[in-house]
Amino acid sequence: MNQIVKPPRLEIIPQSAPFSESQRLWLNGFLVGMLGLDGTASPLAPEQGISMLAPSGDGDDGEAPWHDQTMPIADRMKLAEGRPLRRRMMAAMAQQDCGQCGYNCSDYSDAIASRSEARLNLCVPGGKETARMLKALHEELDKAPAAPSPAVVPAVKVSTTIAEPGRSRDNPVSAKFVSRRLLNKKGSEKETWHIEFDLSGPGLDYVVGDSFGIFAHNDLGLVDQIIALLGASHTTQVNGKTLRQALTEDVSLSPAPDTLFELISFITGGAQREKARSLAQGEDPDRDAATLDVMAALQKFSGIRPHPEAFVEALEPLQPRLYSISSSHNATPGKLSLTVDCVRYVVGKRKRLGLASTFLAERV
Ligand SMILES: Cc1cc2nc3c(=O)[nH]c(=O)nc-3n(C[C@H](O)[C@H](O)[C@H](O)COP(=O)(O)OP(=O)(O)OC[C@H]3O[C@@H](n4cnc5c(N)ncnc54)[C@H](O)[C@@H]3O)c2cc1C
Repeated sequence: MNQIVKPPRLEIIPQSAPFSESQRLWLNGFLVGMLGLDGTASPLAPEQGISMLAPSGDGDDGEAPWHDQTMPIADRMKLAEGRPLRRRMMAAMAQQDCGQCGYNCSDYSDAIASRSEARLNLCVPGGKETARMLKALHEELDKAPAAPSPAVVPAVKVSTTIAEPGRSRDNPVSAKFVSRRLLNKKGSEKETWHIEFDLSGPGLDYVVGDSFGIFAHNDLGLVDQIIALLGASHTTQVNGKTLRQALTEDVSLSPAPDTLFELISFITGGAQREKARSLAQGEDPDRDAATLDVMAALQKFSGIRPHPEAFVEALEPLQPRLYSISSSHNATPGKLSLTVDCVRYVVGKRKRLGLASTFLAERV
């Protein structure tokens, strides 16, 4: 469950103080956090307070003119030029604040820049463009010299807390699937499902505005076609599972990641190798890059036989998908319903399936 946690409302700044309502709210929240008055945080040491007053000590003004999900990534990066690395990382995100990565765009980039988050591929809507840009910026982070003025920016120990079970993508629980019902009439062009889950097992509740995250499994038919293209056996062991299980449960089969093209470039030669290299660098030598899911990539470089273990390693981990909860916990305690629009489309002659929407519509 993805929840927005509300900050505590303690009043420290009196109503009569010469601040607007929003300034008073901000100052109250800031002081509550800094002084540890909400009982959940320990007060900061004086030098930590100094580093908070000068936001992150990097001189950035906190403005984000690129925070517009309709703006292309090249324009966003241009607007962020000259900014500290963490802000350029934020400009690389898809700017949707959708929560699928487990953060908002700004917090995700701050977490990467402070090295408390190592995963660079969590921005689902940003896709390969964002992942590529984050990788390049992360290389800059690795090369960056140590902070020049330790007197201004003290090292703050970052402690990670494990979220409550079922409240974050990093600590999921199992929910019981109850039923699905197609909401459209026969012949409709739309395919929208009413889906129900029982949450009484894990004892989860939710409030208005929460969304429900699903870790879906890939379609077995697609998995088996990929295994056939690899010329491998379903039962080959990969990371303690069969190849079939690993491809079904662990990795994304769409779109083909740069790392798969890198792997292909290592095991082919000549023009094929050049093409794979160019695709791995985000180029589009045959103007078909946007259509290349994992199976289409294997078909494009037909006859390659990567080792199943190397192949699985070259793929991206499966990401959860979020769905707005369309029921009320007050009205139906322990139950949860979703309204899901199914994603199906055709590229060339092959039907492509949205991972989570078709999982909910036909595979769970
Ligand atoms: C906070 C939040 C709440 C949401 N709530 C809901 C909700 O209540 N109900 C709901 O249905 N969805 C909701 N979504 C969207 C949902 O999370 C998924 O993104 C959606 O269901 C598609 O996921 P999928 O795994 O089925 O498809 P994916 O496997 O992610 O495939 C989708 C991708 O397929 C490609 N694609 C799709 N159509 C075509 C086409 N015609 N041609 C070429 N490529 C195409 C695009 O690249 C697209 O990004 C929500 C998202 C967020 C962030």
